[in-house]
Amino acid sequence: MELMYTSTRNANEKVTASQAILKGLAEDGGLFVPEQLPTLDKTVDELAGMTYQETAYEVMKKFLTDFTEEELKNCINAAYDSKFDTEEIAPLVQADGAYYLELFHGSTIAFKDMALSILPHLMITSARKNQVKNDIVILTATSGDTGKAALAGFADVKGTKIIVFYPKNGVSPIQEKQMVTQKGDNTFVVGIHGNFDQAQTGVKKIFGDKEMAAELAAAGYQFSSANSINIGRLVPQIVYYVYAYAKLYANGVIGKDERINVVVPTGNFGNILAAFYAKNMGIPIAKLICASNENKVLYDFFTTGTYDKNREFMLTSSPSMDILISSNLERLIYRIAGNDAAKNADFMKALNTNGKYEITPAMKEQLADFYGNYTSEEETAEEIRNLYEKTGYIIDTHTAVATGVYHKYLKDTKDTDTKTVIASTASPFKFTRSVMDAIDKKYDAMTDFELVDELSKIGNVKIPNAIEEIRTAEVRHKTVCEVDEMPKVVKEFLNVK
Ligand SMILES: *Cc1c(COP(=O)(O)O)cnc(C)c1O
Repeated sequence: MELMYTSTRNANEKVTASQAILKGLAEDGGLFVPEQLPTLDKTVDELAGMTYQETAYEVMKKFLTDFTEEELKNCINAAYDSKFDTEEIAPLVQADGAYYLELFHGSTIAFKDMALSILPHLMITSARKNQVKNDIVILTATSGDTGKAALAGFADVKGTKIIVFYPKNGVSPIQEKQMVTQKGDNTFVVGIHGNFDQAQTGVKKIFGDKEMAAELAAAGYQFSSANSINIGRLVPQIVYYVYAYAKLYANGVIGKDERINVVVPTGNFGNILAAFYAKNMGIPIAKLICASNENKVLYDFFTTGTYDKNREFMLTSSPSMDILISSNLERLIYRIAGNDAAKNADFMKALNTNGKYEITPAMKEQLADFYGNYTSEEETAEEIRNLYEKTGYIIDTHTAVATGVYHKYLKDTKDTDTKTVIASTASPFKFTRSVMDAIDKKYDAMTDFELVDELSKIGNVKIPNAIEEIRTAEVRHKTVCEVDEMPKVVKEFLNVK
């Protein structure tokens, strides 16, 4: 039976999976959600023997039911290939009593590659299935990692163009260099004078602009989104939680049906929502531990039931989590509101006008599987240093936020028996300066690339290709604009009057 998707804000908008992927965002500004969450039809014993690609098929076929087996397998095989530097795609590394699920072995060394290496294939396939003749323009706001991963995924893909907006002073030097050196005539990278939330709001505004959509259509273009609100990003992220569980079982770390905890360093709430979906598919996950940095709006939400973005925006050493509006949380709100689009729409309206909303006690009860906490900047650095000194294993700043919250969780709950997977979302090479500074202040005097070499030496890890590439790469994108100039910049790039 075909699984349909509806908007979180309007029960009457109903589309297929491929249409949801093409649209990105629903007409009413809501997010697409499956009408029911599917369950896996393979046992853990069966999953234990599967490759990453085979696991991906078992998970994704349950969500993308209007794709044929051949279409889906072609997408999977084109995505999870030698762009990843390990055949395992997402290896597990044990360190200091936890299992780090390394999600950074793709071409841009952050976990965004897990979904963005397949999204272009899903999108092109979806366009073909729906007889779309226009070129697809991917419009994306990034806090640093999505941008590069999307650029790498869409560069030179026929029938697509990609425009990325990033906060000019809100990403790491390596992140910025990775983006502005992007090749491909269909790519366009723009720095904005503003923060990530402003970039994201600007992009959402362009998506909602009917007049602009008409102008674009006349020129043979239509917009889509590669942001984590696209269901084509969310679904591939469920795969690695299923895969990690099956691997822990295959390796004898856990017994049959043994429950595990999952810790996720969280920004837009996409990654942890994928873990929640994995749990609903039948993977025995006990606690979903949501880790925030000093932008701890989610921690406050889980403790009080009030989501309140009215606060100072902090620039931290984990910039990909510097977010005050966690877009994907809307999918969870919709669910705990009893899949009630009208009720969810009211909350989102309140968020839009007052910057906050409060869920009901009955809704809050349904969040019992979640645990939220946060890690300060100082604690983040400490976690990196401690783990390195204890084990030699070097984690990045985002992952360290998760490690810090995991330690707080252990202290709060004494739940030391449950095996725990920590989502390791970026290579330490992507945030070299912050990582090395955490290990020893003496590194502060070195240049970015001296730090890269030193990190490789002290951590005994090979420098990833993604870093070697940008040492000498030429800067190709120099456009910088104000937030309110974003629509104009888009039209100029597309040559639309
Ligand atoms: C995007 C990102 C996150 C946050 O993930 P969400 O799905 O937005 O919650 C965490 N760490 C890194 C390195 C990222 O790139």
